[in-house]
Amino acid sequence: MRAANDEGELITRDGGPVRASEALRDKVAIFADGRCLVSRSHSEDVDVISLIALARRLGFPTRTPEFVDLGSLRSFYSCASPSISWSAAGRPVHDDTTMQREVQDLLARAAAAQASDIHIVVDSDSASVRVRIDGELQPMAGGGGGSSVQWRAEHGRQICMTAYAMAAEGGTADANYDPFGYQAGRMMTGLPQGVQAVRLQFNPVGYSGRHLVMRLLYLGHAAGHSIGELGFSAAQVESLTGFTENQTGIVVISGPTGSGKTTTLERLMRRIVENNPGESILSVEDPPEYKIPGVVQLPVSNMRNDDDRDGAYTEAIAAALRSDPDRIMIGEVRTHAAAHHAFEAAMTGHQVLTTVHANDALGIVPRLMDVGVESYKLRDASLVSGLVAQRLIRRLCPRCRRPSDPMTADLPADMAMRLRPILKDRPVWMPGAGCDACRRGYEGRTVVAEIIRPDQRLLDLLCAGERQAAQRYWVDDLGGRTFTHHAIEKVADGVIDPIQAEYKVGKLRIP
Ligand SMILES: [Zn+2]
Repeated sequence: MRAANDEGELITRDGGPVRASEALRDKVAIFADGRCLVSRSHSEDVDVISLIALARRLGFPTRTPEFVDLGSLRSFYSCASPSISWSAAGRPVHDDTTMQREVQDLLARAAAAQASDIHIVVDSDSASVRVRIDGELQPMAGGGGGSSVQWRAEHGRQICMTAYAMAAEGGTADANYDPFGYQAGRMMTGLPQGVQAVRLQFNPVGYSGRHLVMRLLYLGHAAGHSIGELGFSAAQVESLTGFTENQTGIVVISGPTGSGKTTTLERLMRRIVENNPGESILSVEDPPEYKIPGVVQLPVSNMRNDDDRDGAYTEAIAAALRSDPDRIMIGEVRTHAAAHHAFEAAMTGHQVLTTVHANDALGIVPRLMDVGVESYKLRDASLVSGLVAQRLIRRLCPRCRRPSDPMTADLPADMAMRLRPILKDRPVWMPGAGCDACRRGYEGRTVVAEIIRPDQRLLDLLCAGERQAAQRYWVDDLGGRTFTHHAIEKVADGVIDPIQAEYKVGKLRIP
């Protein structure tokens, strides 16, 4: 039997140890580990049968063939193309830098546009590239401007594979690229200026397609360090800075993916580090998104499935608790075990900052009950010290925004009617046509938030399931300001337009 240097090596590739014609490579693929894939419609093909026999004669013990659809074999060969070969350790080695340069160019163009993500979708005959800028996906413009990027499918597959190889060199991905698997990776080197890391997620798509999402993690995250510049109101900034001065208790930030909660958490942590240089501050994140100087960031990354990940996550939190911390940041509480540890830490005199998925600030308490936190803990106002919920809404470009009467501003009639009592005789501000400083009338995004410092009564009402009563008590007695309040304020100030506002926070009615 012959030893192969890599068990997943495709031995029938061009230049591989078992010679096959190009036509034959459409019908069969044989791997060093004995896997043998044959196109379903060529199971009786005499050339295929002889090639398998040849592989056996050459010392490769082939197994019973697995039948696959015609066409799906090509992607295996494209992975074994000469631009990437596989080293003895099973890691890809480059001898062609053209594809790498193309990936780097793609990242550079996305970074120049301050895009948060690049999406590459490869289907059976072509590949498309889109970028997310200010929360909105749009086609990526071609290098020379004008038309958008469109590739042949084969080229798209090569780009995906090259990106994977670039991440694998950093040692952060699995050793082998699997064109049909879910895989994750992280690029740390060769990145555009201002980009700290690029997180990769590869997904299989039907008909031998591929989906690659590259998330760009910027250094210093949009250049700022203060909490105030994110768009919180003055009172909200005061509450948030107040939270950073607590020594104990849990502060929970909620919001859907892309609501900016990681950024808020990062800013709070930075402030805590600055004000408490003598403290041991640990974080457990899956994986860490931004480097926060002064925080020991324990990673949980690249787990194959949710069970693995939850287990590794819980383990990392437990490790952080045993590591003599003063404060702990837990990236997200989504399991009972994580919630249990978070409360354990708070009850033993540490401050804990974390996030959950909840629709609004009052929804955080029932969400924590759902993951199994006992209500006697949730009723304790010394433990539950801060509840924050936030959304990001596209901000009007202050240079080209235009004032208008709600009734003539191309707004739906019912929306215009809702705005009347809010704006009184003030104008509604709408996006302009776009100028040199913006993107079709919008410039970045701004936070709309709800922040609660709960008291005993509020927590009692929430734990008793009295959601309506809790809402009334918070707004009427504690002076709570909801998403709607905050959004109305920003519409009136011309920071956001009512269409974007209602899209994110619902109908604008004075509560
Ligand atoms: Zn503008």
